Amino acid sequence: MAQQAQQLPKVSIQKFGGSCLVNAASFQKIADILNMYREDHEIIAVASALNGVTDRLIKLAESAKKPNLCDQILAEIESRHFAIADEIFAADDAENYYIAVENYVEKRFEEIENTLSEIQEFGMKPYYLDSVVSNGEKLSTFMLSSYLQYKGFETQFYTGEELIITDDNFYNALPLFKEIQYRVDNKLKPLILDPQVELIFCVTGFIGRNMVGNTTTLGRGGSDFTATILAHAVYDTEAASEIKVIFWKDVDGILATDPKYVKGARLVPKMSYDEAKELAFFGAKILHPKCLAAIEKKGIPVEIRNFDKPQSKIFSQIGPDTDEGTIKGISMLPAVQMISVNSGALVEIPGVLARIFQTVADAGVSVSMVSQSSSEVNTTFIVGDKDGPKAVTALKEDPFFKLYFDVTSDPVAVVAVVGKAIPNSSIKARIYKALGDAKINSIAVAQSSDGMNISLVIKRDQLKDAVTKIYEEFKI
Ligand code: ASP
Ligand code: MG
Repeated sequence: MAQQAQQLPKVSIQKFGGSCLVNAASFQKIADILNMYREDHEIIAVASALNGVTDRLIKLAESAKKPNLCDQILAEIESRHFAIADEIFAADDAENYYIAVENYVEKRFEEIENTLSEIQEFGMKPYYLDSVVSNGEKLSTFMLSSYLQYKGFETQFYTGEELIITDDNFYNALPLFKEIQYRVDNKLKPLILDPQVELIFCVTGFIGRNMVGNTTTLGRGGSDFTATILAHAVYDTEAASEIKVIFWKDVDGILATDPKYVKGARLVPKMSYDEAKELAFFGAKILHPKCLAAIEKKGIPVEIRNFDKPQSKIFSQIGPDTDEGTIKGISMLPAVQMISVNSGALVEIPGVLARIFQTVADAGVSVSMVSQSSSEVNTTFIVGDKDGPKAVTALKEDPFFKLYFDVTSDPVAVVAVVGKAIPNSSIKARIYKALGDAKINSIAVAQSSDGMNISLVIKRDQLKDAVTKIYEEFKI
């Protein structure tokens, strides 16, 4: 066994977003990066659609009944891809990779047009939307795979449907890991383990298929999710001695706070999955928490690296370890509404909270931070700026709440301090001291019981000051 384990390769799953797929120079950069890693890594390259293409495809599917607009969007998408293909395949394209791309684009377009006619015939169904939208990644990844071949790499192109099996939740599908593992075990593992085979696996991000075979998509920004889902599966099939995920981004890594508030905000070199989930989602909006949920139990490390500086020693690493006892960063919700529900009448009556949140959910409003006084008299929660009036109207119109409740909505901001050290009272004392010195009051507070995040509601015009003061206090 031990001997066999030694022969397993190192595997890296490398995700290239739309900002890495723009012109000849950026495609060349991808080839250079893969060249650097392939010396000692088996590589799975996951690609997003070209920038903006997913939005156009959504528009296209929604416009199925307007043939002129469809033609216009299709022509636009086609010319975006051909413009890049023209650039990346030079005159010495003896193997006719350009023509292969051209044929592939035509094939995809035929399929899109068929789906558009079905939408015209049967009306919009969730699976039609996912089917149309999935083409952004198919086009870009096929082009990347062909380009790498043109540059002398051997590649194997996979659409997400071939590897990623999901539930039926179109547009926001979740992976079915057992089924995915079976596919990876059969399709990828033998090739990864074969020392004679030196393939770069090029996999479309964002796409999967359900058990019946309909194409599904993994939610906006879902290509990152594809990368971590594949890492999970490769790890589980025991096809690697070491495995990591690298996200190539247009920033150096995850910053301690939004540089809009603190100029020159520091990069966080090392953080735990939980800390990253708190930081990456808010200020920096770099990584969706669900991507990390797919790998954290396996302890698979993630690197966030700058595509423009592939050799740089400055990057963020997310993994099982963190530096205990420190504050990692500050995130914020700059413009939100604080909904406050007050009543003395329903204290100690079970189910009141369920009713509040059901009413808000029925109005299509998602709730962020929540805090309730232990007396149960006041319940406060945060919703998006536009959702404030919706939530208030829904609660005020509900006969149950109408009689006994006073409901208000106020424009506020939330500042959240993140780090494993949050439960420590002396850390909280320092947060409040920093705010107190700046004469900033916290209107409501919630501390998560995982001890990762304390969120403070403050006045909007005090947000910048609050972030700066806390940042300075901890010299993050
Ligand atoms: N192309 C998809 C989107 O724009 C997925 C991704 O880019 O990760 O949401
Ligand atoms: Mg191999």
